[in-house]
Amino acid sequence: MKDLLIAGGRVVDPLNGRDELADVFISDGKVARVAPGLDALGADILDARGKVVMPGVIDMHAHMRTVLGHPHAQRMVALAGVTTVLDMAGPLENILESIPTSGSGINIAVVEAAREGLTLKSSRPDAAERRGLIEKTLESGGIGVKLLGGHFPMDLDICAAFIEDAARCSAWVAWHVGNTVHGSNIEGMRDAVEAADGRFLHVAHINSYCRGQVRNEVDESLEAIALLKAHPQIFSESYLSPLNGTRLAVKNGVPTTEVTKTCLRRLGYQPTAEGLQQAILDEKAGVLADDGRIGRLIYGREALDYWKKKQSAVVGSFSVNPAASRFLLAQAKRDDGSFVVDAFSTDGGSYPRNVIVENGLLLVAFGALTMSEFVAKASLAGARALGLPAKGHLSEGADGDVTVVDVPARRAAATVVGGRVIMNEGALLGNGTTIICDARGADALARRGIAHVVKEPLQPERFRERFVCGA
Ligand SMILES: [Zn+2]
Repeated sequence: MKDLLIAGGRVVDPLNGRDELADVFISDGKVARVAPGLDALGADILDARGKVVMPGVIDMHAHMRTVLGHPHAQRMVALAGVTTVLDMAGPLENILESIPTSGSGINIAVVEAAREGLTLKSSRPDAAERRGLIEKTLESGGIGVKLLGGHFPMDLDICAAFIEDAARCSAWVAWHVGNTVHGSNIEGMRDAVEAADGRFLHVAHINSYCRGQVRNEVDESLEAIALLKAHPQIFSESYLSPLNGTRLAVKNGVPTTEVTKTCLRRLGYQPTAEGLQQAILDEKAGVLADDGRIGRLIYGREALDYWKKKQSAVVGSFSVNPAASRFLLAQAKRDDGSFVVDAFSTDGGSYPRNVIVENGLLLVAFGALTMSEFVAKASLAGARALGLPAKGHLSEGADGDVTVVDVPARRAAATVVGGRVIMNEGALLGNGTTIICDARGADALARRGIAHVVKEPLQPERFRERFVCGA
């Protein structure tokens, strides 16, 4: 593999306290040297003059599945400058088998959905079934499981048992909060944090619980921040896009998911098939359509016709994330200067809302974050959480995962993974996928010939040791 010189950019690497004009020389997929005026030595040259060069963006909540009419997630995140994603529902097998056709050269870690009818026989699985799912997922190449409370709520005691089982298995466990008593809102979040009972838990997309469903969005954000501060073993992420993502399928005249019903009510529509059709027609709900290369949101009559043609088996987005909660959650810090919400995420991938770079740079421009803080939250935080010591920074020997950012244009100019340029100025150049797995899944992936990296074992105590920029 040819060496790569990323030349002349402003290198921002918070772990090493670096923010200066320098070249990054990548040899054999690893960072070999970072210094000004390096000799190309026959390497390929990526011109980064006028741009920021940062360790690759890690999206800690995205969806890479190819089912549900969105096969292009990997291409979409590569275009957005993302080098690594945490896929937050699988299906693992779908992601693994779609690598030859959908791979864009990125790294993916997968948590499998714990869902009745899909991976569980009932919504009250016993201990054997819960642990069976966790172990099977780890042995197949995933890193843990996700509870889908917002869409398919389970009883609180079962959710708590899953968290305990995951801890026993040293597996990742994430929760889109919501249970059979409280929904996908701040009350559901309080239940989830308490159910964790001091154990590791990844509370997904904090934004979703700060949309003014119970009180106003500012009060809810402040409560979410207080909950996270009081439970430092919890990992969390939040996103920067106003758009959510949900299924728009209907059955027997009503949407099949609670999230869609809640969005409809919030926007003043009946939570029914008729209400949904009207919301689509009124351009309040976008429908995700496939243009052959990437997915894009369509609106109005075109969208309604597409929804009908697909017999409602499509997904879409409502604009429901208030600016105030997005801002507060992006910026809030603990007393030690670390971020309350650990990382940026998008809940995107297949949804066209992969805006960590695009909107993260708005926060920098506004003065809410320094450039180093943006990079720490967009890259280093995810690498540390996932147990990937060679990612999230540009030290000598680190993985050659780099995002080159055009700051004035607020977009990724190039995406580099393991020293390979997988995206350059909108051109997609990568293929394949590297799966980030648990040690227990390496054999299965090797037997299938799937490229993989083994993450460090989950160490819950590490989540309390947060990085502080400039400390
Ligand atoms: Zn999600």
